[in-house]
Amino acid sequence: MLDVKTHGEMAKAQKTALTIAGFDPTGGAGIQADLKVFHSYNVYGFSAATSITAQNSQGVKHVEGLSNKLVQRQLDVLLEDFTPDALKTGVLFGVPTVYTIYEVISTYKLKNLVIDPVLIASAGVELAAAGTVKAIKEMLMPCAAVITPNIPEAQIFTALSIKNLEDMKEAARRFIDFGVKAVVIKGGHLESTPIDVFYDGKDFVLFTSPRTQGEYHGTGCVFSAAITANLALEKPLTEAIGQAKTKVTNAIEGANNLRHKYTGMKFLAI
Ligand code: PLP
Repeated sequence: MLDVKTHGEMAKAQKTALTIAGFDPTGGAGIQADLKVFHSYNVYGFSAATSITAQNSQGVKHVEGLSNKLVQRQLDVLLEDFTPDALKTGVLFGVPTVYTIYEVISTYKLKNLVIDPVLIASAGVELAAAGTVKAIKEMLMPCAAVITPNIPEAQIFTALSIKNLEDMKEAARRFIDFGVKAVVIKGGHLESTPIDVFYDGKDFVLFTSPRTQGEYHGTGCVFSAAITANLALEKPLTEAIGQAKTKVTNAIEGANNLRHKYTGMKFLAI
């Protein structure tokens, strides 16, 4: 006989989170980094791949998007069985994937969506096809709890030139106008002290952290995955963001030397 447990019968259920993102063989970014972060919070991680990259410490050498059918099937088969408590998107690669995610969010009534709008890898390789920005803006943003652009990404979405805190605040207002509930713009690309600007249409909250020297792979992924895990744990949004800042700072401080040949890029200790 089929053993189907109802929620009532289960022991205390574990919190779960889903990442829909790209595959990075170094494990420093993308799906594997997200899963490590989820695990570090004792949140069970589900994942669906949108694309596969070939990369090392020199950066992304090759990227291919998976067919939309494959993305769709991964999500449908997973979600007809499991309902994650929160989810995040990373590299989405193209418009059909954005549309598929929009559909599954509505079909399975998914909550606590965190969008990490990854568009370009550090070495300049494009990780999103033409039209993806518009599709994220029109379809995903209205479904999201928060979006976490860095400054180059915020500039692409808002068409503003962002040079200082006031510009960041203006960009944050634009994101709210696009229909997202909240935004946190990461200030690491500014020359002054890095300040992250949170805005939910009512209040601005500024998060500061000391600038650390060096290049680190996967900081954006770790940040958004930590927010997602904390939302799965039912933490309020600004607390989730504060937790995520601490996670990234600790991961930078403990960053690993993996004895790689090519560059001084460091891999986060997650
Ligand atoms: N996701 C994947 C699969 C990547 O390859 C990259 C960058 O190379 C990123 C995300 C973005 O990484 P970061 O967190 O450093 O912005």
